[in-house]
Amino acid sequence: MKKIVIATKNPGKLREMKKIFEGLPVEILSLQNFGDLPDAVEDGATFEENARIKAIFFREKIGLACLADDSGLEVDALGGMPGIHSARFSGFHADDETNNRKLVEELKKIGVEESSADYRCALHFADIDGTEISTEGKVDGIIKLIPKGSNGFGYDPYFYINEFKTMAELTPEEKDAISHRGAALKKFVSKLKERLP
Ligand code: IMP
Repeated sequence: MKKIVIATKNPGKLREMKKIFEGLPVEILSLQNFGDLPDAVEDGATFEENARIKAIFFREKIGLACLADDSGLEVDALGGMPGIHSARFSGFHADDETNNRKLVEELKKIGVEESSADYRCALHFADIDGTEISTEGKVDGIIKLIPKGSNGFGYDPYFYINEFKTMAELTPEEKDAISHRGAALKKFVSKLKERLP
């Protein structure tokens, strides 16, 4: 069976990415299966470039097909920030809590209580025969200063999918059905199916 490594160290992303492969003739592994691996240097200028950098870096390190995700939040009132800097928005030791605190601070600084925003996800698959597949997904929403919900990860409690409900109030299945990552994964899986026996 074909082995595919999901090349992320983010447990939230891994959880969301694994599920889509259920029922397909592939064996899904993650970076955790390969011990202490270094981080890829994500110095691309776009989500797409960074996803490709990670997929190729880990394919070279591991010697198996790798699927990487690069994703983030773009807030219109902040000129598209944090964008590709979403994971480290609050600094080198950032985590979800400090990133969310920084998001609220930045909006308060400019006197904004809510802003249109989107989540974007770029996926890149690098196979051992040199084949590369990339797909992307996007979901629009609103960032507000009041968090709600405890599902999902990252900025989800502040990302409203409509006036009332945040991404963190959705079940995993509901999030997959509408999310940036769900959209990119569905496109990827349909391209992958064409290549499977
Ligand atoms: P990356 O690991 O460099 O791609 O950074 C992704 C970061 O974007 C995550 O650490 C989160 O802060 C944010 N992010 C991406 N996708 C989501 C999502 O589905 N929900 C909430 N935050 C997300």
